[in-house]
Amino acid sequence: MKQETKRGVLIVLSGPSGTGKGTVCSLVRSHLEDAVRYSISATTRQPRAGEEHGREYFFFSKEEFEALRDQNGFLEWAQVYDNFYGTPRAFVEDVLASGKDCILEIDPQGALQVRQAMEEAVLVFIAPPSLEELRSRLTGRGTEAAEEVEKRLSCAEQELAYRNQYDYIIVNDDVEQAAAKMEAILLAEKCRSWRDPVSEA
Ligand code: ADP
Ligand code: 5GP
Repeated sequence: MKQETKRGVLIVLSGPSGTGKGTVCSLVRSHLEDAVRYSISATTRQPRAGEEHGREYFFFSKEEFEALRDQNGFLEWAQVYDNFYGTPRAFVEDVLASGKDCILEIDPQGALQVRQAMEEAVLVFIAPPSLEELRSRLTGRGTEAAEEVEKRLSCAEQELAYRNQYDYIIVNDDVEQAAAKMEAILLAEKCRSWRDPVSEA
């Protein structure tokens, strides 16, 4: 019998902008600390106030983004609200091989690409309790101008239509409960029989 490193779980999180993905994820990460790693995406959008290169995103020029894309450096990439976003491939592969879990926070086009590329990916959709509540969260966050809020709300219904293609749906009506559900999913996925690290020598 040979004991092998148990591969980490790849969680792919999506949901309309303002639904609370970032908030729920931060809580999960604060509970699980170093056992879970968050993939930092590359984007061509401008940083918002307080955002830092290498912390929220890698802020790339269009040319830099296209260069990495052309070297097959992205696990997935997509155009979202007029900008490019992509998941650097090497980071995700290294984290999973090291046995840690990895969370990607990406849009549904990207999530479905990841499922194609990595069958093991667990797709989790974070849904708002209602569209009215989504509007109020997006407006309350205060990070986008009114026009940008409207653009995100008009995309929300399209994004919600993808929810049934995900493995799990979490309605984020309460942050603590939503985080507990995500941690429960992670724990259950770790117990999948195919992850059993014991193999014949
Ligand atoms: P996303 O990452 O999906 O764009 P955020 O995590 O930035 O969304 O959350 C959007 C806003 O909604 C933030 O101001 C956040 O504090 C608030 N929020 C998140 N979850 C909840 C919740 N369950 N109830 C009330 N407000 C919430
Ligand atoms: P924001 O500009 O608000 O940070 O993100 C806008 C949208 O882009 C969100 O739906 C977010 O999930 C998505 N997004 C962020 N990073 C990636 C990524 O690497 N790939 C894809 N496909 N979407 C992403």
